[in-house]
Amino acid sequence: MSISTLYENDPVYQQAVQQLKQSASILGLPDDIVEVLRHPEKLVQVKIVVKRDNGRIETYIGWRSQHNSALGPYKGGIRYSENATAGETVALSMWMTWKNALAGIPYGGGKGAVRVNPKNLSQRELEELSRKYFAAISKEVGPDVDIPAPDVYTNPQTMAWYFDEYSRIVGYNAWGVVTAKPPELGGLTARTVSTGYGVALGVREAAKKWLGGLQGKTVAVHGFGNVGSYAAKYLYEWGATVVAVSDTSGVIYDPKGLDINEVLKVKEATGKVVNYKKGDVKVYTNDRALFELPVDIIVPAAVENVITRENANSIKAKLIVEGANGPTTPEAEEILHKKDVIIVPDILANAGGVVMSWIEWSHNRMGCWLTDEEALARLDKIMSSNFNKVFDEWEKKYRNYPMRIAAYAIAVDRVVKAMKLRGWI
Ligand code: NAD
Repeated sequence: MSISTLYENDPVYQQAVQQLKQSASILGLPDDIVEVLRHPEKLVQVKIVVKRDNGRIETYIGWRSQHNSALGPYKGGIRYSENATAGETVALSMWMTWKNALAGIPYGGGKGAVRVNPKNLSQRELEELSRKYFAAISKEVGPDVDIPAPDVYTNPQTMAWYFDEYSRIVGYNAWGVVTAKPPELGGLTARTVSTGYGVALGVREAAKKWLGGLQGKTVAVHGFGNVGSYAAKYLYEWGATVVAVSDTSGVIYDPKGLDINEVLKVKEATGKVVNYKKGDVKVYTNDRALFELPVDIIVPAAVENVITRENANSIKAKLIVEGANGPTTPEAEEILHKKDVIIVPDILANAGGVVMSWIEWSHNRMGCWLTDEEALARLDKIMSSNFNKVFDEWEKKYRNYPMRIAAYAIAVDRVVKAMKLRGWI
């Protein structure tokens, strides 16, 4: 019998369940286990009442979804978005379960959201909303229970408010209740670069394995925000030729290579990569032009669903490393797999942020503060070893499928084994 829930009909949730079912069929997991895994252990909905600066009382709805804790406390970000739904929150918490299991860190999966457009709120209103949301879920979170972090439109300042509100409620400084805090409160400045750095590591390891190394290989990076800009910066520093980058203003392309430090300066000063003028740069106003360029490697690092059935056949790259969540549609993945294009999937490639969060949390718990160099060296070791474990497992056991299926199969298997050992199933 299937249980009917308030998240059942959400399209993002349905996509997450479809991926789970695909990997379950490869692992030979029976339907009753899939039924256990497709529901969160707990889903909490809270009401947040904020007094606006103009005196009006506004009511917001928020959620925290705790998908699975077989491998450790729930871990995952909190987003502020006017499109947030319970279903999307549950789906994102399920993806965090797989991402954390695959990363080999002692966490389960969680995710939170508040349905709000944060751009309409003043800083004071945002602080009130953040403190009240965290107070409302305070019985559900904690350093050993559930450890939130930033996601879309939340940042280290939001984490500082959450940390303070929680510490006030419990009566002590609970450093480990959230991660990606400001460095003054036990956070690591390296957290900012960690996802992009991890993506660059994924490119480096995959290029070593399938392209004969990174030196001189041409790379196009779609999206030049937090993830894309740091991925481009490290790849450039490590000897790749980054020939194209893009943002919502368009694509810049120079077949001889872009000066990424200069692009970073231009982006910082003007907000648009298309204002870069060095060398023989060509500009395309359509950001999708980037996917058709003659390059060795593509790093999609902007938004979901950009590599689709429509453009998959025009892709010339041999390697795609997903910085964004969900940039490749299942149809496009099938086309590319048949063309022997390797896709390093998001749950493997963009785990650098959550791994760095674990490094921060574990040191907070011991009362030690790490330097950025120490933290990045640990991240490098963990991510490189994880990439190679997944690559080897894929080649050995799952080579007939895209690498994503192998990554899911490994992650789901780890969670199911832990549940069995604990006697849950
Ligand atoms: P961001 O907002 O800092 O950057 C997004 C970038 O994409 C911007 O440069 C924006 O101009 C560009 N962009 C947006 N729409 C575009 C389009 N249609 N065409 C071209 N460029 C476009 O966001 P971010 O933190 O870098 O996140 C990017 C992706 O990585 C998201 O999918 C996010 O979920 C995922 N991710 C981020 C982290 C993290 O730690 N920041 C961790 C894991 C996954």
